[in-house]
Amino acid sequence: MKFNTKLIHGGISEDSTTGAVSIPIYRSSTFHQHKVGGAPKWEYARTGNPTRAALEQLMADLEQGTAGFAFSSGSAAIHAVFSLFSAGDHIVVGNDVYGGTFRLINQVLKRFGLTFTVVDTRNLAATSAAIQSNTKAIYLETPTNPLLRISDIQAIAKLAQKQGVRTIVDNTFATPYNQNPLVLGADIVVHSATKYLGGHSDVVAGLAVTNDNKIAEQLAFLQNSIGSVLGPDDSWLLQRGIKTLGVRMRVHQENAQIIYQYLANNAKVAKIYYPGNPAGDGYAIAKKQMNGFGAMLSFELQPGLDPKKFVESLQIVDLAESLGGVESLIEIPAVMTHGAIPREIRLENGIQDELIRLSVGLEDSADLLADLQQAFAQI
Ligand code: PLP
Repeated sequence: MKFNTKLIHGGISEDSTTGAVSIPIYRSSTFHQHKVGGAPKWEYARTGNPTRAALEQLMADLEQGTAGFAFSSGSAAIHAVFSLFSAGDHIVVGNDVYGGTFRLINQVLKRFGLTFTVVDTRNLAATSAAIQSNTKAIYLETPTNPLLRISDIQAIAKLAQKQGVRTIVDNTFATPYNQNPLVLGADIVVHSATKYLGGHSDVVAGLAVTNDNKIAEQLAFLQNSIGSVLGPDDSWLLQRGIKTLGVRMRVHQENAQIIYQYLANNAKVAKIYYPGNPAGDGYAIAKKQMNGFGAMLSFELQPGLDPKKFVESLQIVDLAESLGGVESLIEIPAVMTHGAIPREIRLENGIQDELIRLSVGLEDSADLLADLQQAFAQI
């Protein structure tokens, strides 16, 4: 099946007991067992739930993995994946990751004895040099949040494999529509499904997918042991969102190209970060490993122009955290999504106080342009 067909018919596309083409929401928390110790398919809904299982199988198909795991948020998925490691293990982490991931690493996981080295994973030599004898994984985002930096997944996975190190990619920004890290050599993919996969800003969810049987077994154990599973209602909602991922991404990206052109020719804009910028340093790799450039872009205004006034002046584009919804969303990472990162570290990694991040939605592009124009006129 081609990708757009898989979105609709992948995974378990029909309920085996009723034939329902929309997988039913199985709210039961437990399942009748015919005999004691008979290893039934369904026993207790934290361990496995048919609605969640359909989503997990669908995601495994979309990421071309063998096993998927659904969690109560992207952060819960990332936490479960990091729980594969033990005190004393070392992990190399990209320097431009979501602020919540930074917080999880620094304020939670370090307390449990995991150690980390932060590197710019665009730099292969630096990434390789950061690997130590106790390194177990390289964890990265590409494109990154919020600077849309691109790292070469294939090259990183290759250097990791040589040293017996796993590669974990947060594929939230690209989605499987644009990029399949497992095909490029990664071992685990994680998602904040709250974003493009759900697509309608109405569900918080996370996913992890792998193509390695041993990792799959460990993740199933961790998912059940930690227990941060996605409920059946949200599992259903997510499957409904995923069915239209293809058509949504197409229009998201068309609109993003139009907005990018507008911002690139706007004298009030000092700098734009967008994987589809032909002059950007990630362009060639993005073209190689992605099917499209996504619909996220970040930009800085010329010095002296007030970014807060700009984002507050917008009337159609919503001032809100999150991304990947049908509605365009704008925010200032320094004080919103990435507020958990200390200012000096943030600045060192290139996230200026003035940086604005825009998730381009599915509104008519003419309305989006008019809204941006009127907000620019006010600063
Ligand atoms: N990864 C990325 C790239 C994100 O942008 C986010 C949230 O913004 C997360 C992970 C965390 O996901 P969630 O908010 O669903 O916990």
